[in-house]
Amino acid sequence: MSNYNIETKCVQSGWQPKNGEPRVLPIIQSTTFKYESSDEMGALFDLEKSGYFYSRLQNPTNDYVAQKICDLEGGCAAMLLSSGQAANFYATFNICEAGDHMISSSAIYGGTFNLFGVTMKKLGIECTFIDPDASEEEIEAAIRPNTKLIFGETIANPALTILDIEKFANVAHRHGMPLIVDNTFATPVNCRPFEWGADIVTHSTTKYMDGHAVALGGCIVDSGNFDWEAHADRYPGLTTPDESYHGIIYTKKFGRAAYITKATSQLMRDLGSMQSPQNAFLLNLGLESLALRVRKHCENADKVAEYLNNNDKVAWVNYAGLPGNRYYDLARKYMPDGICGVISFGLKGGRDTAVKFMDSLKLVAIVTHVADARTSVLHPASHTHRQMTDEQLIEAGVQPDLIRLSVGIENADDIIADIEQALTDI
Ligand SMILES: *Cc1c(COP(=O)(O)O)cnc(C)c1O
Repeated sequence: MSNYNIETKCVQSGWQPKNGEPRVLPIIQSTTFKYESSDEMGALFDLEKSGYFYSRLQNPTNDYVAQKICDLEGGCAAMLLSSGQAANFYATFNICEAGDHMISSSAIYGGTFNLFGVTMKKLGIECTFIDPDASEEEIEAAIRPNTKLIFGETIANPALTILDIEKFANVAHRHGMPLIVDNTFATPVNCRPFEWGADIVTHSTTKYMDGHAVALGGCIVDSGNFDWEAHADRYPGLTTPDESYHGIIYTKKFGRAAYITKATSQLMRDLGSMQSPQNAFLLNLGLESLALRVRKHCENADKVAEYLNNNDKVAWVNYAGLPGNRYYDLARKYMPDGICGVISFGLKGGRDTAVKFMDSLKLVAIVTHVADARTSVLHPASHTHRQMTDEQLIEAGVQPDLIRLSVGIENADDIIADIEQALTDI
């Protein structure tokens, strides 16, 4: 499928039925798989043969969907997980252990910030957060002898900063470590981080990929480009014998698939954050229309951002598609065809006005979600961050008046009309 365009891959990649098989990806709703001989089953457990034996590690439905996402990103191996949180945990923990260090952009999803800054710290892994706009020298200054990776989000949720992927990849590679990019908001329709030097990509498939707000999920895709063997001392988990598999060495046995094979056979085996095949089926349906939907989200977001920008009740608009936005040039470079459907803005009048505005919306709904077909809105100061004072909010990088608008795929005129009627009331 690698020669096809992205729209074709969205529809056709992954499941390839043979003669007489179902046209549509089947849900293999089975925890177990049957074998004729004990030896055959034994060989699977030793990773001597590839095949399915237990759905906590691998399931065919999931693998076909992972293959589709792998094709979309232009990667070499991929795996599905139960959530985006699980994807970012596995992606980093696969090459970090107690005593190690990692670097992350500070402009990332709140859940990931907590995972890296609090939970992984309890496992003995330290994370230094750096400014997403840090210079190469500033990124380099954060690198330590035990640093294993650099992490960032293509488009940060909710800050909407754009990562200069090439810059971060150059620094990472100069110091012999991979760049991991969470590409959830851009999706491979708008940006393929491997083309800019990223080594590993993660996704919360819960967002645009599913697109209908029905199935939690995550994905990790490996480009296969990072040379673990060239930095063998830094990545012993990949380059020295794994005692839990009779001493196999992942890089020696699996080559470019080493990283994903280790994450599946070790982390998935021991931690078990598997996506259900039912969810993978729903995700696959979402992926079929991903390219169509993402284009419509972007087209609508452009119109809504322009409307807000020209409205005198609006204090500010943050959307990298607007000329004058601080990330406009980076967005043009990495996402020339569109950014994403998420916009943030503030109203004159601040926090209380934001609440009044949101309560007056009729079509646009207040929900704790982004990036699905329905336009939705969230006010962090009243919802996700409601325990904080205005001063604490500003310290955390969330303006008290910030409204996050996830523009859906309805008719843009109807979305704008709803915003307009709500603005007349305030
Ligand atoms: C939502 C989100 C996550 C977490 O994904 P879940 O599927 O909710 O676990 C991670 N990264 C980004 C950028 C997200 O938007």
